[in-house]
Amino acid sequence: MNHQERTHAVLSASGAHRWLLCTPSARLEEQFPDTTSDAAREGTLAHELAEMKLRHYFQTKEFGKRKYNAEVKKLKTEELWQDEMDGYTEIYKDYIKTLALSFPAEPYSAIEKRVDFSQYVPDGFGTADCILLSGNTLHVIDLKYGKGVPVSAEENPQMMLYALGAYQAYSFLYDIRSIHLVIIQPRLDSISEWECPLGELLEFAEYVKDRAKLAINGEGEFCPGEKQCRFCRAKAQCRARAEENVKLAFNPDKGKLPPLISNKEMGKYLAYGEDVAKWLSDLKEHALKECLAGREVPGWKAVEGRGSRDWTDMDAAFEVLKEKGIAEEILYEKKALTLAQVEKTIGKKDFAEMVGGMVVKNPGKPTLVKESDKREAITNKITAEKAFQEEQ
Ligand code: SF4
Repeated sequence: MNHQERTHAVLSASGAHRWLLCTPSARLEEQFPDTTSDAAREGTLAHELAEMKLRHYFQTKEFGKRKYNAEVKKLKTEELWQDEMDGYTEIYKDYIKTLALSFPAEPYSAIEKRVDFSQYVPDGFGTADCILLSGNTLHVIDLKYGKGVPVSAEENPQMMLYALGAYQAYSFLYDIRSIHLVIIQPRLDSISEWECPLGELLEFAEYVKDRAKLAINGEGEFCPGEKQCRFCRAKAQCRARAEENVKLAFNPDKGKLPPLISNKEMGKYLAYGEDVAKWLSDLKEHALKECLAGREVPGWKAVEGRGSRDWTDMDAAFEVLKEKGIAEEILYEKKALTLAQVEKTIGKKDFAEMVGGMVVKNPGKPTLVKESDKREAITNKITAEKAFQEEQ
């Protein structure tokens, strides 16, 4: 399929995490243009490559080596093509290949399948990257090419909507009893999987139906929050978000309180504050656009930022400097690539073979993250075992 054609419905699957929580957001967002970034176009290209790989693997007869090579050659002429796409989409393909080979028989596979979940969501449809059916399990696998944050497959509404669409399409032919959802983010080294019984998916469908009815009519309560507001197109001007953040920043709790806050409160304030900083930067970005467009934002104006100097022609300037006796060593510095850059340049496999044994992993600086983060918690408190060792 042409990935450019991934049109969006009002209640899109990718925006479900937002309109399920904040039902009026879908209609409010309609007032703002749906812009695509280079990152999104890059993701589209990576999806096209991944699709070719899966077609070549599952439909080798119709999509043989020659056809595959010709398609990939075409993709390589695209402006946003990067050689690393090949390695990253290979991780996605390898996962699916390993999963398919783990089944007792060859699974049914559908690649870039348009799924229809309009029985639950008005005009609801989407494109599932890969669907596999084997035994009583429906597998829905999604490739996310972004470098942002790892996304969990657990109760992921976008994936559950795709699964509902796939269930609608295949339940006549297959006795589906279990749902397996997978999100692969190769650039973040993240593969998230979640499995649930069919009953749980159908319960979700009922919840979705109610929320979608409110959302399509622009009804229900606004529900600002870090997750749902983050990519909302109304994020800079939404009144509910503005009021919530002002409340969180300046008046999170009422009543008479002791002069020092407790750790419990500290945790609460950190959670409150998460969206405040983002909201302020969204607000600033929007206000700057307004000022530049000549519209008044009382108390604010746009000015030229600090400029920087640059050569009109660096090579010509360096030639002059060298002619005047400035040594070349003064003009250039020799700088080693970082370990990650070297690995990227020569490839993971060769890197591991040649110098893999010469790499040490230094512990990172302690960082504060949310409890839901998968990394193990650390503490400075010495364990009884360590204290005993030290005494010895
Ligand atoms: S910015 Fe947040 S609160 Fe406002 S409509 Fe969007 S998701 Fe809802």
